[in-house]
Amino acid sequence: MIARNGIIEGIEFCPSPNFDNRPKNEEIDLIVIHAISLPPKNYDTQLIRDFFSNKLNPQRDHFLESIAGLKVSSHFLVTRHGELLQFVSMEKRAWHAGVSEFKERKNCNDFSIGVELEGCDEELFEISQYECLIELLKFLIIEYKISPNNIVGHSEIAPGRKTDPGPNFDWNLVKSAL
Ligand SMILES: [Zn+2]
Repeated sequence: MIARNGIIEGIEFCPSPNFDNRPKNEEIDLIVIHAISLPPKNYDTQLIRDFFSNKLNPQRDHFLESIAGLKVSSHFLVTRHGELLQFVSMEKRAWHAGVSEFKERKNCNDFSIGVELEGCDEELFEISQYECLIELLKFLIIEYKISPNNIVGHSEIAPGRKTDPGPNFDWNLVKSAL
C-alpha cells in the first residue's frame, strides 16, 4: 500500500464532506474499529456510501429515517466482500468516534483513524474482511508508527454508548496477525 496526502492509492475513494482539520500538532496514534450495516443486519454498501455523503434517502426504511440527519464519516470501510473504501484523508479528522475517551484522552476523533467493517453485533465477519483489515492495519502501524496496543473497538472508547464491532469480532485473530 502507498498513501499520498493521507489517501491510499488504488482503492475506491468516495469523498465525504464530514471531516475537518485535526488539532494542530496532534499525532495519529489510535485506530478505532467499528461495525456498520444499513439498515442493521443488511449489507448494502451503497447505503453506507450514501450515509457518509449525506445523501441517504430516508424514505426507504424507518431506521434510515432515524439517522438521515447525522453528519458522520470514517476514514475507511471494509465491505462485506473484503473490499477497502476510503472516505476521508487520514490527514483530516473524520467524524466516527463521537463522545469518547482513550487512556484519559477525550475526543478520539482528534488523534485516531476510523475503520468501519460492514457487519453487526449478531453475525460473524467474513474471512475476506479480516484479510483486508489486517493488511490495512499492518500498513497503518508502519505508516503512522501506531502501537498494536492502540487498536481498539468503538465500544472500548465509548462504553455504555456503543457496542461495535461487537462480540463476534475476533480480536485474537487480528492481534495475532500483526
Ligand atoms: Zn462505531
